[in-house]
Amino acid sequence: MQKDTQAVHAGHTVDKDTNSRTVPLYQTSAFTFDSPEHASTLFKLETPGNIYTRLMNPTTDVLEKRLSAMDGALCGVALASGQAAITLTLLNVTQAGQNIVSSPAIYGGTSNLYHHTIKRLGIDVHWADLSKPDEIEAAIDDNTRFIYCESIGNPKNEVPDFEMIAEIAHRHGIPFVVDNTCAPIGLVPIEHGADIVIYSLTKYIGGHGTSMGGIILDSGRFDWTGKKYGTPGKFPEFTQPDPSYHGMVFYDHFGGDSMKADDGTILNPAFAARIRTCLLRDMGPCIAPFNSWLFIQGVETLTLRWKKICDTSLQLAQWLEKNPNVSWVNYPGLPSSPSYANAKKYLNGYGGIIGFGIKGGIESGKKFLTNVQLMSHVTNIGDSHTLVAHPASTTHQQLSETELIACGVSSDFIRIAVGLEAPEDLISDLDQALRASV
Ligand SMILES: *Cc1c(COP(=O)(O)O)cnc(C)c1O
Repeated sequence: MQKDTQAVHAGHTVDKDTNSRTVPLYQTSAFTFDSPEHASTLFKLETPGNIYTRLMNPTTDVLEKRLSAMDGALCGVALASGQAAITLTLLNVTQAGQNIVSSPAIYGGTSNLYHHTIKRLGIDVHWADLSKPDEIEAAIDDNTRFIYCESIGNPKNEVPDFEMIAEIAHRHGIPFVVDNTCAPIGLVPIEHGADIVIYSLTKYIGGHGTSMGGIILDSGRFDWTGKKYGTPGKFPEFTQPDPSYHGMVFYDHFGGDSMKADDGTILNPAFAARIRTCLLRDMGPCIAPFNSWLFIQGVETLTLRWKKICDTSLQLAQWLEKNPNVSWVNYPGLPSSPSYANAKKYLNGYGGIIGFGIKGGIESGKKFLTNVQLMSHVTNIGDSHTLVAHPASTTHQQLSETELIACGVSSDFIRIAVGLEAPEDLISDLDQALRASV
């Protein structure tokens, strides 16, 4: 099925109790067991079924199956937020003394998690410029657990060379994790070697700025036994007995080598299964069923919205590039972008985030935020409304000029997160706000 079709059908069959055409909202905490034996097999993970909404929910299940289908993943686990998805991905395969390799060009929340919070757990981040294979190689050691990047990296709009990074990760026997929040539909990371894909559903997938959520999609293709990469024993989480399930081995319990993709690759859902049955069970950041239901409404129009957002963004970026009040424009769909070649190679639509430099620097930037009328001053992206932000006077105001430049936030930098309005109206708002501010 094509993505437009999957967006409205995948993961759902009309239930015979109600014949409801749309996906019902199961706003419930717990589910009845057919018998004591049924309860026992569910708790032993011998049969799939509903127990308690912290672990699974039928509305959330449709969301997980639908997004998995659209991204070519084997399965997925939806969570309370994008940050919860990133945190549980990390905790699933790291412990004190281990590290991950990450690009520094990432979302602020993830950057804080990596710089500060996980340090207290004894987990380290080796930062590397992922456009440089030598730097990636040098950052990997025996304790490295995965390589992490964003598909259109924040705030520099960088598009990595996914296939190059995946090749290095797999050569070292470690998975490649991609946060694809900023390019849903635009990029299918699993087709380019990603093993685990993360989304903040809060952004484009929800699409209306109404709800918080995240999801971890598991391609099922990473070989946790390490046989394929010559690194056996590297991921005991999945290949050694788990004491919290009476010595069950995740990889073996969930099918071992028995399931195969069309191309012959072994598929095993151990990564996602362990997230759900250990981490979500113990730590609890579950998604509210109502939010899952709202995200399903978002998914149904995602392909339409994505095309419109990308078309409008390209138009705005081209207009800004010619504007006398603008000193530079950063959009991956412009030939002037350092990421243009990768964007052309990998993306279908260049995304909804435009960075530009306003003439007059920090003072003009502040004025611009008060002069916009249609666009709103909000630090969010992926809303139906167009949002603008000036990081130097808000989220990044504590940083010095040198620190600002190091993280790609110059004092004149304005970010537009393009919404669903008509491009003409956005351009006329930009035009009047720029004239009044510079
Ligand atoms: C917003 C965002 C997150 C965090 O998601 P929340 O749902 O806000 O927790 C992670 N990664 C990227 C790229 C984001 O834009």
